[in-house]
Amino acid sequence: MNAQKIALVTGANKGIGYEIAAGLGALGWRIGVGARDPRRRHAAVDRLRASGADAFGVPLDVTEDASATAAAEFIAEHAGGLDVLVNNAAIVGRMPQTPSSVDPSTLRDVVETNVIGVIRVTNAMLPMLRASSSPRIVNMSSSVGSLSLQTSPGIDMGQVPAAYLASKTFLNALTIQYAKELSDTSVLVNAGCPGFTATDLNGFSGVRTAQQGAAIAVHLATVPDDGPRGGFFDDAGPVPW
Ligand code: NAP
Repeated sequence: MNAQKIALVTGANKGIGYEIAAGLGALGWRIGVGARDPRRRHAAVDRLRASGADAFGVPLDVTEDASATAAAEFIAEHAGGLDVLVNNAAIVGRMPQTPSSVDPSTLRDVVETNVIGVIRVTNAMLPMLRASSSPRIVNMSSSVGSLSLQTSPGIDMGQVPAAYLASKTFLNALTIQYAKELSDTSVLVNAGCPGFTATDLNGFSGVRTAQQGAAIAVHLATVPDDGPRGGFFDDAGPVPW
């Protein structure tokens, strides 16, 4: 087994994903920068390497089966295995997105990336993760996906795009199901919420920095072997499902 941990972060060319890669790189880990656009991928890898991280680019479009399969083969060949997968890539999708106005094609696109993309990449990486001594899967979710918070009196989430919100509820359910399926293995599966973070996703209207948003994923990627399974967390602790 490799002493240096190896991680793949999807959607790591910018925003929170880039900072997750930087945070894990700062721990001395080898970081696969999963990104679909070659130019943006190379730029992120160059920037991470310039900051001292052991980063390598992984061509990956989470909406394509062949891309996920090829990414797993690429990591096996270039890094020899995988310890941690951070499913970070996501889209908000086209507007409008009230339940009564959302175009079904928008809903399909959002689910394809934010939900099926996670399943596709996770299943492609699972054989390598199962072979790791301390494997972790971190799904970047959002508190807007919490059914408990959505239905709590007094909590106003504002105008959250319906397809995006529902995709995170779907992802939360999947996180629980993966954790249950893998409960007799050493793979710890958890979901994290970065908080309202200033990135392209929200036109930089968020109040947290991408580095702050990345902290929960770095934490969940590094929990000990007796750490949580099937939990949902932000920087303040557990988030209700
Ligand atoms: P972002 O800046 O828009 O970055 C999203 C990343 O996902 C980009 O690297 C993007 O790549 C990538 N991506 C999208 N579709 C992809 C695909 N098909 N294949 C591969 N990569 C793809 O968003 P962010 O704010 O950093 O969000 C990161 C995660 O945090 C997401 O899961 C998001 O839902 C979650 N989150 C964010 C907030 C927030 O306030 N920002 C709050 C709660 C949860 P391209 O550059 O190629 O588009």
